[in-house]
Amino acid sequence: MTVPRGSTPAGRSSLPVSIAAMATFDAVFVGSGINALAGAALLAKQGWSVCVLERNDRLGGAIRTETDYTLPGFTHEVLSSWHPLFQGSAAYAELADDLHRHGLEYVNTEQPTATAFPDGRAAFLGTTMEANVTELDRHAPGDGEAWQRQFEEFVAHADLSFGVLDTELWSGAGLGLGRTMLRRFGRRGLLGFAGGALATCRDWTTATFASEQTHGLLAPWVLHTGLGPDNAVSGFMTRVIACAVQLGGMPVPVGGGVTLVEALAAIVRGAGGELRTDAHVERIVVSEGKAVGVVVAGERVDAHMAVVAGVTPTQLYGSLLSRGAVPDGVALAAKRYRYGRAGMQIHLALAEPPRWKGPDAGRLSQTAIVHVTPGLDGVSRAVNEAERGLLPAEATIVAGQPCALDPARAPDGKSILWIQLQELPAGRVKGDALAELDVGDGTWTEELREAYADRIVARLGDSIENLGSATLKRIVLSPADLEQLNCNLVGGDLYAGSCALDQNLLWRPFAEAPGHATAVEGLYHIGACTHPGPGLGAGSGYLVAKLLTRPPLPRRLLAKLPGRS
Ligand SMILES: Cc1cc2nc3c(=O)[nH]c(=O)nc-3n(C[C@H](O)[C@H](O)[C@H](O)COP(=O)(O)OP(=O)(O)OC[C@H]3O[C@@H](n4cnc5c(N)ncnc54)[C@H](O)[C@@H]3O)c2cc1C
Repeated sequence: MTVPRGSTPAGRSSLPVSIAAMATFDAVFVGSGINALAGAALLAKQGWSVCVLERNDRLGGAIRTETDYTLPGFTHEVLSSWHPLFQGSAAYAELADDLHRHGLEYVNTEQPTATAFPDGRAAFLGTTMEANVTELDRHAPGDGEAWQRQFEEFVAHADLSFGVLDTELWSGAGLGLGRTMLRRFGRRGLLGFAGGALATCRDWTTATFASEQTHGLLAPWVLHTGLGPDNAVSGFMTRVIACAVQLGGMPVPVGGGVTLVEALAAIVRGAGGELRTDAHVERIVVSEGKAVGVVVAGERVDAHMAVVAGVTPTQLYGSLLSRGAVPDGVALAAKRYRYGRAGMQIHLALAEPPRWKGPDAGRLSQTAIVHVTPGLDGVSRAVNEAERGLLPAEATIVAGQPCALDPARAPDGKSILWIQLQELPAGRVKGDALAELDVGDGTWTEELREAYADRIVARLGDSIENLGSATLKRIVLSPADLEQLNCNLVGGDLYAGSCALDQNLLWRPFAEAPGHATAVEGLYHIGACTHPGPGLGAGSGYLVAKLLTRPPLPRRLLAKLPGRS
């Protein structure tokens, strides 16, 4: 490893003398998920020397593109696939020019999402108001107008809704957001706004729309926020996503997420930073209450300004920090941090594009993400069964069709399906809601994984007529396989921690250590387990990069003086 510019490799007297400091950077990132990569790129562009250390053999965390994964010529997003959150993010707004210069290219669609119901009907959400009003009115006259009203109300206060997700809530900026809300709504109005945000998806959708098809169109989206339709705040999350889908579609990078990873890495490298794979960080070094570096494979990498950890609270407080580095209350609370429902991915290589059944078959085949579910109650039931430890009888199937946007993911005339399930038990499987599958001792054996995938594929076959005949190859990843690929996905939890309200927003990752600054000076916590939670929005990496490069207070006050910009 080379010693980067601005480094001071001389050892610190309070660090273990047995481990030589090999290099010093301004900031060292533990892990290379989207938050770490975006944070590192933003800091690198501000002239910081940064080092990203990744335990896997590749960068990107839950962004993992594999060519020839199922069969030669088929390119699959093994984990995350859809980039509306990144394309709509503050990080992208700031880095877009550099990312495109380094090869990132997005494609988008006017047909982002739909739900296919068992009776052959389907409901769609597109990218224009006109199309959505017509579509929702098709299911129940008046639902189109209801959509338009709620969308316009949302947009009028989008700065606040997105602000909640974009702001360091435990900070002056968070307080500022609260003051803006108070000024805009008044005390009673604010109570109404905040109270409305706590509503469940069920209450919000059923109070707003008459049609069960519309409920079934929107409800599955709440799964993508780690919640279920009967959880507090799930109404707010559904509304944010639904509006964001109309505004932003469902973009994917041409060639897969690896192009985003490579472009972010190129920004870091271009500024003299380093990214190392096969580099498992064993420990964070704390000296006199300050994080001063990390130990990786017996080698010390020092950090002048910050250690930024993109890991779970379990790992951060349970193994990377030594006992006593943080107050006992924080360490104890970290032990109680809960992981959420598990996920499963099924990847299919197809000899021809999927042929959906029913009167909307043509539109369904062009849609990026099709949810297959009986509707709101179907999602609710499957979530409830999973939360009781059961394999759901009728899971919500997330059928992603990347080739509808980026045909080169499969050889000419062929196709792929990216299938996601988000309603599997956290931890041991206790049984099967249909009482058909033998779950053995509740661990994810190959047999259980394949048997459950058979159930899912058979159900999907009820909606896609050629699924069986077109399937050339299938790869299934159980919750255990997912954790194997990325240790942050504990128990196969796609979102690195339950997103129930007591671990979300103001309380993420948990009430004793909310936000990103930690009890250790110079140590910052980022990733899906921190605010604003999971997804490719890079929010926590962005917030920490901004926090670290914020001008000192006197300069910020001076900038507020009249005549200064
Ligand atoms: C299957 C799946 C599908 C998803 N689909 C989408 C989607 O389509 N769109 C979307 O917006 N979101 C999606 N998500 C969510 C989104 O991908 C994640 O929330 C996000 O990528 C998490 O980023 P992160 O910064 O928390 O880091 P992660 O992606 O969790 O990466 C963390 C990295 O840190 C490394 N690491 C951990 N400990 C150490 C250590 N001690 N030393 C060195 N390295 C370490 C890990 O190996 C890992 O590579 C999906 C998630 C999953 C799992």
